[in-house]
Amino acid sequence: MQKTEDRETASARQDRLVRRLRAHFGFQSFRPGQRRAVQAAIDGRDTVVVMPTGSGKSLCFQLPGLELPGATVVVSPLIALMKDQTEALEARGIEAIVVNSTITAAQRADAESRIQEGFHGFIYTTPEQLASPEFRWLLRGAGIDLFVIDEAHCVSRWGRDFRPEYLALGAVIEDLGRPTVLALTATATAEVIEDLLKQLRIPDAEIVHTGFNRPNLRLAVVSAAEEDEKLDRLVELLGDGQASGVVYAATVKAVETLTAQLAERGFRAAAYHGRMKNADRAANQDRFMSGEVPIIVATNAFGLGIDKPDIRFVIHTHIPGTIESYYQEFGRAGRDGEPATCTLIYRPDDRKLHTFFQAGRYPSSEDLANAHHALKRLADSPPRFEELEAVSPLPRTRLKSALNVFRGAGIVKEDLLGRLHLLRPEMTIDDMTRLAGREQERDEVDRMSLERMVEYAESRGCRWRAVLDYFGHDDDPADACGRCDNCNGGA
Ligand code: ADP
Ligand code: MG
Repeated sequence: MQKTEDRETASARQDRLVRRLRAHFGFQSFRPGQRRAVQAAIDGRDTVVVMPTGSGKSLCFQLPGLELPGATVVVSPLIALMKDQTEALEARGIEAIVVNSTITAAQRADAESRIQEGFHGFIYTTPEQLASPEFRWLLRGAGIDLFVIDEAHCVSRWGRDFRPEYLALGAVIEDLGRPTVLALTATATAEVIEDLLKQLRIPDAEIVHTGFNRPNLRLAVVSAAEEDEKLDRLVELLGDGQASGVVYAATVKAVETLTAQLAERGFRAAAYHGRMKNADRAANQDRFMSGEVPIIVATNAFGLGIDKPDIRFVIHTHIPGTIESYYQEFGRAGRDGEPATCTLIYRPDDRKLHTFFQAGRYPSSEDLANAHHALKRLADSPPRFEELEAVSPLPRTRLKSALNVFRGAGIVKEDLLGRLHLLRPEMTIDDMTRLAGREQERDEVDRMSLERMVEYAESRGCRWRAVLDYFGHDDDPADACGRCDNCNGGA
């Protein structure tokens, strides 16, 4: 008797979720993994959701946030997209507010008083904001029952988008009274997921992991013997230039050159890279997002969290460093489920670019000794990064990588105010050499990842198979064929 009742309750609950899905989001049914993630969060289980870009991770936290009585905090590195996301929620009649560094004092005061008065919608914010004890105190008082970390691979120093500020989130979660934690990412390597569980202090989290197959994406590789041959290949691929797509290039200079060359040939293309003025970059992104300009030529600075559903192609004009980053970047195509093509223009010599970038990514024992010395000098009043930088002889990027190593090894701890505490003031040259040696191993891992990417580019076998094998996931092999140049017998 009891059993039937349970089953009925469960199925009634499921019906309710589907009704909510239709009413609030206008979707007919759940996509793979969504229902499980939503249910886990509603039931109060910490959950890590790993799904490819474009598969619908937002819904996995928006629906439970709506169901649960208290407020939901959403931490995201993508300040630029918070406004879009909250406006989309509000348009669906769901309350949402933004608290980040871009809002005005008046907006902040308004947000704070709404939170204080028992707000129970979505609060989009950043790790930097959460570093403020006053803000945490306010949130704690409001009663947070779901704590969401979007783009959660930022927690891991193994991830490409590592953000040191994310390391503090484990402590923030405790401080907020331990709400249910829901972390979402498209990065699925074992190291990153392990790091997530550790840094966020959710060792027993349920992991919802869908496959990597994207049935609507076709993969292809086109060869170019010389650099200046690439433009011809690109122009062939772009056709009439009307379809919307991303052209990735490895350097700022290559982005600028390509954008100019495409313009000369009559294509409407906008540039995007990290060294443009913020306003210009944002304007170009807007022009692309709105469809005013169909093509965006970009470094990999473009894309994290971009939600343009109708991207019909992603073309890489240089080989990416890993299959993982390639997957992340080409995965921005075809989010609407309609066919899209992902092409790599491959010049064998390009791999040297990565060897060049890699040099200096990992600190030497000398860098470590320098950084340690600077920290020790300031140990009496633990410095923030800028203060440390001022007294250190190391350039910013090398100082940052040295600090990352120290943090990872528990030698330095960053508090919620960003101050760097030196936990091991006594270290020998031998210690430094050992630490640097470990970094060299990571350098080796990078080299091997690049080799896998080169194998992909040079393979005569099914390209989807190669990608799925790389992730070690047992997606149906039959599914992998027929959607790449090799399986279709040439491009
Ligand atoms: P991700 O964060 O995983 O990259 P998003 O959450 O941005 O993906 O969603 C990608 C797209 O999929 C959005 O346009 C969204 O509206 C759509 N989408 C999400 N869930 C569903 C669903 N159940 N049915 C149909 N479309 C969906
Ligand atoms: Mg997302």
